[in-house]
Formats: sequence, C-alpha cells, structure tokens
Amino acid sequence: MSVRPLIDRLNAEKSLSLAEWRTMLTDYTEDDRQYAAEIARGLSTAVFGNQIYLRGIVEFSNYCKNNCLYCGIRCGNQTVQRYRLTEDEILECCAEGYALGFRTFVLQSGEDSSYFPDRLPETIRRIKQAYPDCAVTLSVGELEFDMLKRLRECGADRYLLRHETADQAHYEMLHPQSMSFAHRMQCLRDLKSLGYQTGAGIMVGSPHQTADCIAKDMLFFTEFQPHMIGIGPFLPAANTPFEKEPVGSYELTLFLLSLCRILLPNVLLPATTALGTIRPDGREQGILSGANVIMPNLSPTAVRKKYMLYDNKICTGEEAAQCIGCLNRRVQKIGYALTFSRGDHPDMQPKTGGTL
Ligand code: SAH
Repeated sequence: MSVRPLIDRLNAEKSLSLAEWRTMLTDYTEDDRQYAAEIARGLSTAVFGNQIYLRGIVEFSNYCKNNCLYCGIRCGNQTVQRYRLTEDEILECCAEGYALGFRTFVLQSGEDSSYFPDRLPETIRRIKQAYPDCAVTLSVGELEFDMLKRLRECGADRYLLRHETADQAHYEMLHPQSMSFAHRMQCLRDLKSLGYQTGAGIMVGSPHQTADCIAKDMLFFTEFQPHMIGIGPFLPAANTPFEKEPVGSYELTLFLLSLCRILLPNVLLPATTALGTIRPDGREQGILSGANVIMPNLSPTAVRKKYMLYDNKICTGEEAAQCIGCLNRRVQKIGYALTFSRGDHPDMQPKTGGTL
C-alpha cells in the first residue's frame, strides 16, 4: 500500500505520530521513495537553489577513548595505526583548504583527551584569527558543558554530534556500558543552548535497528529541530564486533534524506561519504533526494587511510584539489553547482561586522 498520503501530510504539517512514522518506514514502495525525493528536491531548491555547500573535513586524530561497537577506530581495535596532527599541521590543512576556496572547516577526531583542555581551543582560536571569514565546525564527540562553552567562545560555530539512535535500548546495543544515551542527548541540548549550529544524525541499518528506532529518530528530529542532520548507511568495519554485519540499505538512506528534507526544509543535509562508498553515484543520488552539502576530505593524504571508520572508504587516495574537480563534474552533471560560501543555516546567519 502506498504511503503517499503520509508523505503529503508530513509536507503539510511537518509532523507525524510515532505509529504513522512506523507505517511510513515499513510500507513505502519504490514509487513512494521517488515521490518523496521529488518533493524533497523541490524544497531544497526553493531554499538553497541549485547550490551545494562544501565543507572541508580535517580528520586530525584517530585516537579514541571510546569503544563503540560499530566504529573502525574504537580503542579496542589494535590493528589501527594511530596518528595525531599537531596544531601547525591542522592549520596547514586549513591553509590548503582556504586556497582552494573552502570557507568551512570541519575538525573531526576520535575522543582524544590530548587536545584538552588547551590544544583544541587554541587551534580554533588560531584558525578563526587567520580566517575570520570561515566557519569552524567541530565533530569531536561528547564534552562537558564548560568545555563546549569554551570552544564556542574561541570561535567554533557549529558542532556535529550524531545521536546515533533515539532509542535507549538500541543505543546500549551499539555502545559499551561506559557510554550513556542520556549524556549524549544532554550534550546535544547543551550545544543548542550555547548557540552552536547543531547537527544530530544516525547510521541507517546499524545492527539491531528497527523501524521503531527510526520512527523515534524522526520524532527526535521533529522535537529537537537540528540545524544539520548527518545520515549515512552503516558499513561494517574490519576488526570490530560488527565486522560481519550487513551494510545498511541504500534506498532507505535516500528515502530518509528525503523525509528529513520534507520535515525540516531549511536543514543542512550532507550527501555523506558513506553514501558515496556504497554506490559510485550515491552522493549524486543523495542530492537528488534532497541533500545540499558535501564534505570533501582535507586531511593530509598520508593519514587518510588511517581514519577508517568503516571499510572501503572513498577518496582516501586523492588530494583535496582533485576531489573538488571530480565533485564539480559530478554535481554539474545532475544540474547543481558547488559553492564555497560559508553556508550557514538560514536561521543562523552570523552577525555581520557592523560598526559600534
Ligand atoms: N568521535 C566523534 C566523531 C567521529 S565518528 C563522534 O563520536 O561524534 C563520526 C560518525 O561516523 C559517527 O557519529 C557515526 O555515526 C559514523 N560511523 C562510525 N562508524 C561507522 C560505520 N561503521 N559505518 C557508518 N558510519 C559510521
């Protein structure tokens, strides 16, 4: 049975009940998915035109104190060659990115305490001083309120922290006992209250995920109203407890991107690297399903193969400049254009430097 009426109602009312979300996720057909993509694409074009925002991602450390069951760089994975970039090396990545035109830098890492309390705040301060026209996004895991506040005061603009799942029992199947669902959610609320453009998100098809879990994720997005949503398929990573688990569904990932766009028309929605990893044209299809952001890698090529959250990650061989050329051709082919503008959330435009 078609879920078209539910898609229409989501579009009109920007909200559905838990039971309706469950029906949406279990009963949709390929036709429904195409229908949702069409609406999502229209909304994305109405808000962002045919522009795709670029963010340069610097994976500055693969040390991690956590042992998430899905993640290739979990602390229990002893086959990982660990590395850390120095502050100067991080700045060099930004310099390279700036010269290429990037105006958003995403600093991502495992949860590595060696950058705290001072090195990460200091690095952000240096980046913002050198490139005041750029946005800095952090993706460094959970931190306490005071540290999040300090990083914000140093100039961090945005923060990505996927909630991973809004179902506590499911959360506990993906994470060791030392990690807590409540703390991750608290962290997300802290980020928002501190004025960060805040990103949540999930992996599609993570082990033990059910339609009910995703229905709860959609309710969470409705209530939390994130500025960004990161959604990619689960991909197994060698030498993790989930290494033999199946990859997440490509079609469901695309459908969820469309539903997120319909729910939150202004949301910043990346076509993720994981999506490009399960299908050669995954990121293009993500854009055609409502995504409006791409995050090319600015990490030094020497370390890229060491930041393997999952197996077969794409773009670990090329230079950033090559990536831009390739992405440019890819998005142009489907009628879109890359843009280097900061690309803030429409509700969170930075104050322009007016006179006092
Ligand atoms: N340590 C930071 C950021 C790095 S992980 C943090 O915890 O937020 C960034 C994201 O990669 C995670 O939130 C997770 O959703 C995703 N990820 C990790 N392992 C993955 C896998 N095996 N397949 C797909 N996505 C994965």
